[in-house]
Amino acid sequence: MELLKQRIREDGVVLPGNVLKVNSFLNHQIDADLMFAVGEEFARLFKESGITRILTVEASGIAPAIMTGLALHVSVLFARKAKSSTLNDDLYTAEVYSYTKKVTNRVSVDKKFLKADDKVLIIDDFLANGQAVKGLLEICRQANVEVAGVGIVVEKSFQDGASWIKQHGVRLESLAKIASLADNKVVFEGE
Ligand code: 5GP
Repeated sequence: MELLKQRIREDGVVLPGNVLKVNSFLNHQIDADLMFAVGEEFARLFKESGITRILTVEASGIAPAIMTGLALHVSVLFARKAKSSTLNDDLYTAEVYSYTKKVTNRVSVDKKFLKADDKVLIIDDFLANGQAVKGLLEICRQANVEVAGVGIVVEKSFQDGASWIKQHGVRLESLAKIASLADNKVVFEGE
């Protein structure tokens, strides 16, 4: 998605540890027009897939997920990072190690919001080593729902997540694919 790549080139800041900071338009301040276009692009890619629900994880996945839900006219469910590890029979839960925060969160969704006949599209802001997506796939497995695919705003293709998802036969659509962040420089795939 050229508009997104252009914005990353203009405003993205490369931090140590292969982290791209995009908090001026994606995960702190949100450029609503850009996010609307992101939602429309995911909707275009998945419009034939019979999606009935979008699933993401709080907080940074929510903006692109909502815009996709708006474009596809389906509800958006976000896994919450629960504070306590108290067992709760009404929840599907998974452990997710955060790439940027270096902590493990237990994420959960209420069972009543995922039904066995749902066809789910997983959305997230970034894909690095795939921990967040793996956690969301685990929740879908517990709920016995079909996963139509994964939509990622910014994929860091040089990390392990993208190949893991494809190897497991899950459709992956990423709107910007970064081949390298070496020397503080953003290089997109194909450049
Ligand atoms: P993964 O679970 O695939 O290892 O990492 C994806 C999650 O970590 C995303 O939900 C995102 O919040 C965060 N993340 C990973 N890499 C980056 C990055 O380079 N920049 C930002 N802003 N977030 C990242």
